[in-house]
Amino acid sequence: MAEISLVLGDITEQRVDAVVNAANSSLMGGGGVDGAIHRKGGPEILAECRELRASRYAGGLPTGQAVATTAGRLPARWVIHTVGPVYARSEDRSHLLASCYRESLRVADELGAKSVAFPAISTGIYGWPLDDGARIAVETVRETPAEVAEIRFVLFDTTAYAHFGRALSGST
Ligand code: ADP
Repeated sequence: MAEISLVLGDITEQRVDAVVNAANSSLMGGGGVDGAIHRKGGPEILAECRELRASRYAGGLPTGQAVATTAGRLPARWVIHTVGPVYARSEDRSHLLASCYRESLRVADELGAKSVAFPAISTGIYGWPLDDGARIAVETVRETPAEVAEIRFVLFDTTAYAHFGRALSGST
């Protein structure tokens, strides 16, 4: 089973095989993690995203799925782009958020990545409450069989870090 760790920091700076991007379906960049990855990773990532749109995902990458590109100038080797669900009070979309973590790990295994860094998918612009987002993230990676040896959650602020800490220690 993979070792799970928490880091307070910036996902673009992680020295891991693959970093996961909280992308949007267009794969053409955006704010938050997505913006930071494209800014620091350089144009190579966007060029591959364009190719993916043209070849495999004309209608955009569906929510809950994941696809890999190069990591450009980032220290990581690959970026795994996944599209989190937008939070909605009126509808339970938890299965889609869980799917992002599961599918990202499946893609990581396909690549042969041994270490993977995840942001707190959907908890920024997409509005998912941090306590629930952290619980789903931790439960899903724990339940998903994968060859990946290290899973690192990279949290951008102390609030997110605390929520993931509680989820990891099982006190939520
Ligand atoms: P989403 O659209 O899926 O909500 P965001 O990128 O807006 O994605 O936010 C996801 C989470 O990532 C939020 O908790 C946000 O604070 C955090 N975040 C934003 N920038 C970074 C970064 N550079 N490294 C790690 N986490 C980040």
